[in-house]
Amino acid sequence: MIYLDNAATTPVLPAALEAAWPWLTSEFGNPSSTHELGLRAHTALENARSQIASWLDCPASDMVFTSGGTEGDNLAITGLALANPRGKHIITAPTEHEAVLATVNYLERVHGFEISLLSVDEFGNISLPELHNTLRPDTTLVTLMLANNEIGTVHPMPEIITAAHAVGALVHTDAVQAAGWFDLHMGKNGSVVAGVDALTLSGHKLGAPKGSGVTAIRGRLAVEPVLHGGGQEFDRRSGTENVAWAVALATAVTALADPQHESSRISALRDDFIAEVVDTIPQAALTGNSTERHPAIASFTFAGLNGETLLLELEQRGVIVSSGSACAAGSDEPSHVLLACGIDADIAQTSVRFSMSHSTTVEELATAQKALSKAVAAVSGLGQ
Ligand code: PLP
Repeated sequence: MIYLDNAATTPVLPAALEAAWPWLTSEFGNPSSTHELGLRAHTALENARSQIASWLDCPASDMVFTSGGTEGDNLAITGLALANPRGKHIITAPTEHEAVLATVNYLERVHGFEISLLSVDEFGNISLPELHNTLRPDTTLVTLMLANNEIGTVHPMPEIITAAHAVGALVHTDAVQAAGWFDLHMGKNGSVVAGVDALTLSGHKLGAPKGSGVTAIRGRLAVEPVLHGGGQEFDRRSGTENVAWAVALATAVTALADPQHESSRISALRDDFIAEVVDTIPQAALTGNSTERHPAIASFTFAGLNGETLLLELEQRGVIVSSGSACAAGSDEPSHVLLACGIDADIAQTSVRFSMSHSTTVEELATAQKALSKAVAAVSGLGQ
């Protein structure tokens, strides 16, 4: 099997599982308990926090362990919007993940916020002049993802942060797809997220279990919690902490190879793959920005062919991919991202996404490309 659906989820790294195991078995203490078992769990949790904080280059006290990207997006957006009432205006884009769009929709419906959706062009790019014109003295938050999970388009985060901060607005970025591919040092000049106020990660996109995640929110900022209770996680996220998943997440991020190196290596393979697909399959059209894109995401539409059928044909040939976004589970609605890019609904239905990992090889991509040609021929009724 050739697994090219890493943007949907990644396998758990054996080292992450091994590191988590004791905290699920013999070391089962509650980190808030004051006996030995509890203290050991507390120490493990805080060590995991420090490891991830040093990986993100931010204070450990900025880090909130969550159950993943959806919760992290909810916490950062709702938490910052409600606790920092400069005004009730939020800026985002229609290509964001549902975890962001549904959260701003909630703030609009229930808390009276005004949401400005920036327009995007056919490649999913926002316009910086439009962002400048949309920012207002009452803009509380700008939330824009670093790299799009479906089409791979990368937002110009340094410029977004500068523009928002110039008017005093906060910036959150959903960096769920970016981990392992971009320099995510929040404190380092020159990194794409330097100076960002909040950043969300999900464990299952980077070799940790589903249901693990972390959101970093600058410690000086007030955050209205989404989960109320015993005041864990610096009063930002109540609930007994999942020590095992925190340890697994810390192990997985520490194991991630140098993002810069992996990005350039896999981008080169991705570009060859894209060129080969577009050159050999007349129906194939790349979606997203052709240069400012996620190193490991190549997504196409195949006019006239059904994306789901193509996916099944590919699966029969041993290649696992996604049509549109697997996060909008079970839906055969055309992708909201492609629609926002102005792609017609019937073309959007034909989309297939290939997403690689650090261990994807040139041979795997060559095999996938051949399988794709055969699958396209089969779906076109030519059979092969
Ligand atoms: N944000 C983005 C960009 C994603 O791709 C996903 C999942 O695919 C999420 C948020 C949600 O993360 P989780 O599945 O951990 O809730």
